[in-house]
Amino acid sequence: MNEAAPLADRLARVDQRIAAAARANGRDASEITRIVVTKFHPASLVRDLYDLGVRDIAENRQQEITAKRGEVSDLADLRWHFVGQIQTNKARAVRAAASVVHSVDRAKLADALAGAVAADEPPLEILLQINLTSDVARGGVSEADVVPLAEHVAAHAGLRLRGVMAVAPLDEDPAAAFARLADHAARVRSVVADATWVSAGMTGDFEEAVAAGATHLRIGSAITGNRPAHP
Ligand SMILES: *Cc1c(COP(=O)(O)O)cnc(C)c1O
Repeated sequence: MNEAAPLADRLARVDQRIAAAARANGRDASEITRIVVTKFHPASLVRDLYDLGVRDIAENRQQEITAKRGEVSDLADLRWHFVGQIQTNKARAVRAAASVVHSVDRAKLADALAGAVAADEPPLEILLQINLTSDVARGGVSEADVVPLAEHVAAHAGLRLRGVMAVAPLDEDPAAAFARLADHAARVRSVVADATWVSAGMTGDFEEAVAAGATHLRIGSAITGNRPAHP
């Protein structure tokens, strides 16, 4: 690896792997959005990624996305994705900092986010996070409750339902988990036909996610290197 530009090298290598996985599955890589997860890293990393052409950044904590976005507010064409659990009382701050919220998992949170969108603003883009495990402590709506939540979100003028998101369980083959996610994505499309986004795949499983039809990959450490300890 070129020591002078390890970040550029890691980014290029991941993008090559995405392109290869797309080709192997008869998909067009241009229909796949690679989001770089920068949690725990300083805003200077976001700036370095921007200089390499990255335009989609994800964070999982409200305080961190709010602070970091403020530090690089000159990078006006960045899209900020929020992928973490959200307390309802933080909905307004998340809405202010994020262009897309991947982690909507309950009606009360949808209501709070919708309440933070003014009538003259474009709707906030929403993905339903689905819990593919039976552990309720993991974020996400239970698999049985996906369609009612989709209907609830679709009824809010301030929200635009774009699709689904999930994290593969630790104790299940990611390909099998992402196949179930694809089934849920189809059910959500039966509620909102153009909710076509599937956010799946991290450092350890993004090739399986591409094979299962993911449209948005959330990749952290393969690109950023190891995360520093919690700030
Ligand atoms: C941290 C995080 C990622 C990225 O994880 P890596 O394994 O570092 O790629 C993706 N999705 C969510 C929800 C995360 O919190």
